[in-house]
Amino acid sequence: MIKITEKIDTGNIRIQPWNHPEFEKKEINVDILRLDLIHPLISGNKWFKLKYHLDEALKQGKTGIVSFGGVWSNHLVALACACNRHGLQSAAIIRGEEPAIYNAALQHMKDYGMKLIFISRTAYRDKKSALETFFTANHGYYYVPEGGQSDKGIAGAAEILSLAPSGNYTHIACAIGTGTTITGIINSAGLGRQVIGICSLKIPGVNAQLQNRHQQPPDINAANNELIRYIHNNTTDDNYTLFFDYHFGGYAKKSAELIAFMNDVYQSAGIPTDIVYTGKLFYAIADLAKKGHFHPGNRILIIHSGGLTGNKSLPAGILDF
Ligand SMILES: *Cc1c(COP(=O)(O)O)cnc(C)c1O
Repeated sequence: MIKITEKIDTGNIRIQPWNHPEFEKKEINVDILRLDLIHPLISGNKWFKLKYHLDEALKQGKTGIVSFGGVWSNHLVALACACNRHGLQSAAIIRGEEPAIYNAALQHMKDYGMKLIFISRTAYRDKKSALETFFTANHGYYYVPEGGQSDKGIAGAAEILSLAPSGNYTHIACAIGTGTTITGIINSAGLGRQVIGICSLKIPGVNAQLQNRHQQPPDINAANNELIRYIHNNTTDDNYTLFFDYHFGGYAKKSAELIAFMNDVYQSAGIPTDIVYTGKLFYAIADLAKKGHFHPGNRILIIHSGGLTGNKSLPAGILDF
C-alpha cells in the first residue's frame, strides 16, 4: 500500500487568467481558480466536500470511512487518499461487477488501501440495505453519501470562494454533478454575483437553462427533478443560472469537438481539463461568451474542480496532456 505523508495543501491553489479570442472580443475577463493543484488525487472540489466529514470521523473516533460510487469515481479516489493521509481505513461500495483489469481510478483506490466491494447495479439502487450489510461485517466506520452530497459537503464547498479575492468577480462558474459544490458556492457568493452552473449529466426532458427557483422554462419541471430540487432546497438566494445543454450526449460522453477544444485550452493556456466536468465547463463559458451571455466589463471566475484522473479512460495520445 502506498502511504501519503505530504500535507494536503490548499496553499498550492492559484488563480490564473484564461485568455481566449472570444473573451477579448466581448471585453470580458476570465480567471481560473485552480483547485486541481491541491493534490493530484485528492483533487479540486472533492477535498472541500470531504474535509468536514474527515474532521467528524476523527472526532467520533471512527476507524474508517465508507462511501458509494462508480468505477471512475473521483470522489472515491479522493476519499481513499484522504483517509490514507489521516490514518483512517476506507471502504467503497461500487456499482457493478468487479472488472478483470482495474482502471486507473480503481487502481488508485486499491493502492491507497481502500476496501472495494462490488455489487450489482440492481443491488446498488438499494443503498440502505447495501450499507446495512457492510456495517454488519465492518465496525467503526463513518458513512459519507455518494459524491459527498451532504450538508457537510455543502459547508466545505462554501469555503472555496474564500480563496478568491472577494468583490472581484461578477460571475462564478462551476461544473455540476451531485450539485453539492454549486450549492456551497451559491450560498457563499454574496449579493451581486451571479453563479453559473454547467450540468455534466443529461437530465431526461431537460434541455435549457433554469434561472433560479422561480423560473421554469417550458421543458423543465424543476419540482420533479432531484438534482434541481436539491440545489433549490439548500440555497436561499436566487443568484444562479443552471445550464443543461452542455452535456455532450450525457455523463462522461465526449465528442471530437470537445477533445479538440480541451487540447486547444491546454496548448493556448497551459490548463489541463477533464472530459467529464471541467472540459464541458470551459467549453460552455467560451460558448456563452460567443452567444453574448456576458456584458463588456464582466469578470468571470471559473472553478477548476480537478478530476483529471477521468482522462485516463481515453486511449493514449488523444489528449495532448
Ligand atoms: C465530482 C466533480 C464535480 C461535481 O461536483 P458536485 O459537487 O458533485 O456537483 C465537478 N467537477 C469535478 C472535476 C468533479 O470531479
